[in-house]
Amino acid sequence: MMFQLTLLRRNHELARTARQREILETASEQPPFVRTLAGHGFGPLRADGIQVLQVNVGKLCNQTCHHCHVDAGPDRREIMSRETANACLAALAASDIPVLDITGGAPELTPNFRRLVTEARRLGRYVIDRCNLTILLAPGYEDLPEFLAEQQVEIVASLPCYLEQNTDAQRGAGVFRKSIAALKRLNDVGYGRPGSGLTLTLVFNPVGRELPPSQPKLEAAYRRELRTRYGVEFTRLHTITNMPISRFLEDLLQRGEYETYMQKLVEAFNPAAVAGVMCRTMISVDWRGRLYDCDFNQMLDLDLAPGLPRNIREFDPARLGTRPIVTGQHCYGCTAGAGSSCQGAIAT
Ligand code: SF4
Ligand code: SF4
Repeated sequence: MMFQLTLLRRNHELARTARQREILETASEQPPFVRTLAGHGFGPLRADGIQVLQVNVGKLCNQTCHHCHVDAGPDRREIMSRETANACLAALAASDIPVLDITGGAPELTPNFRRLVTEARRLGRYVIDRCNLTILLAPGYEDLPEFLAEQQVEIVASLPCYLEQNTDAQRGAGVFRKSIAALKRLNDVGYGRPGSGLTLTLVFNPVGRELPPSQPKLEAAYRRELRTRYGVEFTRLHTITNMPISRFLEDLLQRGEYETYMQKLVEAFNPAAVAGVMCRTMISVDWRGRLYDCDFNQMLDLDLAPGLPRNIREFDPARLGTRPIVTGQHCYGCTAGAGSSCQGAIAT
């Protein structure tokens, strides 16, 4: 029964991503991304080595945020198996990729999360946990702050605003208060405290349809407000742009705002952001082990260019590190304004 449900969901999702790819490529009157690149003297994007192996361990999450590009939630059953997690670790061990970036869903909910962390650390790799904060308060997960601190894992956590109303509007009622409680737990074990070596990165993305404001200015405002209102400390803030895919794309379409949003992204194209788009130095793996140029291409089921290895079990860092990148209209989200990546703004 569970297998049938997962299969049905998978078929539904394939139809949905195919529809989204079609909308992105045909419904916009904006110039193709590759033409805009060429107009600014850039060739098609190509990888320049692999600095980050980003592993999406699945769609299971304790939240159902409005703008989630993964379409994650508590009823999702797609999670990485032990065998696929082993293949990711084998790929790390056989390469000199310095960073393992673990994302989801709520990655901590999946059974292989802690093993991925400890084994990657044993290999001497820097590990990032993309954490939604509220999971740190969930029953059975209360020891996570200590575990992550012991393993010296960087925590990258979404907090779309230092105001309760805005955060709850995007991430669900009550999420802000839980997030603040979780941040305090992280501060208690040293995260975000100067000299602790424990990095706590917060992530802002706009609640509405605008582009993110200046990252340094917003970081200063977050620091001031979180410190004075709640006594919370953090290391740095990343700003990211809402990508026109998944739930956010559906929301734009429902409101009849898709074309306006695309136009905004295209008009804000910034050539200075092109060299720093994250696909040039990372590769993304999904819960089944399939490889993609980035997490966004993964969500659109946009495979790697033809002829390349398709699965982490066939990992070939030399070929993948120089691969041509598959781009589309959603890529304007990475090059608008100050640019946007998993490492925040590109051209600050
Ligand atoms: S916490 Fe993250 S993965 Fe979970 S629903 Fe929200 S945005 Fe999606
Ligand atoms: S959406 Fe992905 S492929 Fe496109 S520019 Fe951004 S990181 Fe690269």
